[in-house]
Order: sequence, then structure tokens, then C-alpha cells
Amino acid sequence: MTDFLPWQQAQWRQLQQARGQGRIPHALLLSGPAMTGKRRFAQAFAEGLLCRTPTPEHLACGVCDNCQLVRAGTHSDLVFLEPEESGKQLKIGTIREFIGSEPLSTQGGGYKLCILDPADALNTAAANALLKTLEEPSPSSLLLLISSQPGRLPVTIRSRCQRLDFPLPQYQAALDWLAGQGSGDWPTLLAVAAGAPLKALQLAGEGVLERRSVILQQVLGLLEGRADPLQVAEQWSKADVPQLLDWLASLLLDLLRLRVDPALTTPFNPDMRQALVQLAPRRSERDWHELAQELIQLRKSITSQLNLQLQLERLSIGLAAAAAHTRGGR
Ligand SMILES: [Zn+2]
Repeated sequence: MTDFLPWQQAQWRQLQQARGQGRIPHALLLSGPAMTGKRRFAQAFAEGLLCRTPTPEHLACGVCDNCQLVRAGTHSDLVFLEPEESGKQLKIGTIREFIGSEPLSTQGGGYKLCILDPADALNTAAANALLKTLEEPSPSSLLLLISSQPGRLPVTIRSRCQRLDFPLPQYQAALDWLAGQGSGDWPTLLAVAAGAPLKALQLAGEGVLERRSVILQQVLGLLEGRADPLQVAEQWSKADVPQLLDWLASLLLDLLRLRVDPALTTPFNPDMRQALVQLAPRRSERDWHELAQELIQLRKSITSQLNLQLQLERLSIGLAAAAAHTRGGR
């Protein structure tokens, strides 16, 4: 069965205390940075509520008939609503399905649980349907809304949920947990994942550090005037572009930060610190800032795919201009 994560003890205690006092709200909004384990927490909580013989910590036993149904994914009192395709909106049909199934008699635990992830993917019609259940909750229903961008939820929904915050875990707690998952360059992966442990774990399985190092070599080539910007842009356009832009942004932000403070000890890319320290003085603070801004804009508009190649070329030429700039200045 599902267990909550070591950095979620306080939230677990808080919720179990409310449960003990019969004060579980009808809707909980679990918010905080992505890939830190909010969904896992929601699942552990839901499983614990449905279990007939939970552990002293209120985790599911894993052996009772309810736990077996949950494990098989066939427990009628626990539903997961998520966009049918990743990145798409949650549709009205899936919300109505839950509302429609609500009157079914509850088995065992006595709760009817629905986990919406990510809740901010609700479209307007689905949000209105959800609002209806929040206004007239049935006594045993519990909605668990998960969001890393709660600001995108309609305020009418947010105001009807009790919010439970999940901040980024402490660095050492995240590292300790990752070390227990197997071997890997966890400090680097955790930095690349911006401190989100589940993201670091996912990246480890994707050979990300190797691909990232290729990108850095290309950026180095551009900045040193060795690489052809058009060729680099073409290679970039074939990569996972949103991820590529995230890396480039983190590299440029590191360059900007190291330009301001060469003694900076916490770059986003600690494994590349040495190369970045040498590159940073090549352009002015203002230049790095402008390049980083351009990149962030590009990252925002990338969904359109409009003139992607052209925009990547503009970016690689912008980086290559650093070489000409430096040579011209000498
Ligand atoms: Zn059980």
C-alpha cells in the first residue's frame, strides 16, 4: 500500500488529528511544488480511511478486503480524476461521473473519496460541476484536490477547500530519501530538479545528466565561437524542447548569478560550476539578463510551436554573439 514521504510527517499528523476529532473537511486542497509527493500523500490518506484495520499510524493494512479492492484499482469508493491526456484539461464528463456515482452505498470505511490531480486542469464547466458538490457535500464524501498552481483554480473553489501546504522538502531530507532509492548523482539530480525529489528520481531514469552535458558543450561551443549557431539550433529543435529550454534557462541564470557574485556557492548546476565560472565574465550582467529573459519568454510561448526553429536560431545566434563580442573587445 502507499506510504507518505518522510518530509510529510507534519501534514500527516495534522490530518490524522482532524480525523480523530471527526473534523475531516469535505474538500482538501493539497498545494505545493510539483513532484514532491502530494498525490502519494493523498493516496496514502485515502487508503488509510478506507482500510478496515489500519496501522497505529493510520496507514492501510494492505490485507483487508477493502485494501485488496484498492490495490486492484476496483474500489468503488475511491476514484482518481485526471486529464485524459497529460497536460489536457479535466473534462466535465469525468467530474459528472463522480457526482453521479456518489449516492452508491459506501463499503466498509464509510468514505467516498475522489482525488483530482492536477485540480488546476479543470475547465470552466467541470469547475462548475465540482462547485456544486462542494456547495452540497454528502456527509461521507471527501474531495482531495492536488495542485502545484493553486492560483489557477477558480477562487470559488479555493475558498471552499481547506488548504494543506506541502513546501519543498529540506535538502538533506530529500537527499537521504533519494539515497535509499538506489545509486545516482543525487546532489546534481536534485539541483537539476529544483529540489523536487520525485522529479530527481524520474530524471535519474532518463539519462538526463548525459544529455544535459551535451547541451552544455554546445553552449560552450557557441560562447567560444567554435560552434555553428544554425547547426546547433537545428539539433536543439529535435530535442525535447521544453526541457532543453529549462536547462538553458538554468544555465543562463547561473551565468548571470556568477557574473554578479563569482563566489556563489549554490548554482542550479553545481556539477558545471567550474565551466560556468569561466564563462560568466564573458558578457555583462545586462547581457546575461537579456538572454535569460528571452529564453523565459520563449519557454512560455513554446506551446504554439510557431517559428520554433527560427526562435531557437535567434537564441543560438545570441549566444554565439558573445564570442564575437569578446573578440571584438580585445
Ligand atoms: Zn486494510
